[in-house]
Amino acid sequence: MIQFDNVSKRYPGGHDALAGVSLDIRHGELLVLAGHSGAGKSTLLKLIAALESPTGGRVTVNGLDVGRLKPSQIPYLRRSLGLVMQEHRLLLDRSIFDNVMLPLQVTGHPPKDASKRVHAALERVGLSHHARALPLTLSGGEQQRAAIARAIVNRPSILIADEPTAHLDPAYAREIAALFRDFNAAGVTLILATHDETLYSPYGARRVELAQGRLLQ
Ligand code: ADP
Repeated sequence: MIQFDNVSKRYPGGHDALAGVSLDIRHGELLVLAGHSGAGKSTLLKLIAALESPTGGRVTVNGLDVGRLKPSQIPYLRRSLGLVMQEHRLLLDRSIFDNVMLPLQVTGHPPKDASKRVHAALERVGLSHHARALPLTLSGGEQQRAAIARAIVNRPSILIADEPTAHLDPAYAREIAALFRDFNAAGVTLILATHDETLYSPYGARRVELAQGRLLQ
């Protein structure tokens, strides 16, 4: 369902963040991307979500060439993806409920159904009782669960997370990983960049490693 065909990415003025990457990710898979800092993990995830475009090769998601999308096709792609990215932090001046509502507002979802979905997503991550709270009144683990609720509120078939358990203490990290594994068990394709591989490796994860922009075989 996701294919990288000889993909490279060079940022303006930079060196190759990715070079010659070919990778097939199957529907329902749990894929762990490993590699040192700077290896290209975030870049690979951003290419799937069309947050960056490849400078060589092709990335396809459900048959769509995501490096060459027409603007009208981007909402279609985004609806099938849930993103937990490092730079997409919660808005600190809005409640947890309003943060989780954002993706539905962006896609123009009917408000009444949107509200139901937000409640369902918050319940799914165990945060119903914090719906009206502001992000900074919650623990790090709870804030990360809110970010996950925001990522799943559109009921995506693919969930992408960039270091979702970095900066969390081990108990919170285990809790977040269990939540991700539950989504995967329910059929969601899960792609994670993480240094905490052991949270997933006993559960049938496929591990691929990047080093200086290249996939190690
Ligand atoms: P990782 O997620 O494995 O730490 P990244 O994909 O963030 O790796 O980065 C890969 C390489 O690309 C690094 O050398 C990084 O400095 C560079 N890079 C990442 N984003 C940008 C950007 N927006 N502009 C220029 N260089 C970038």
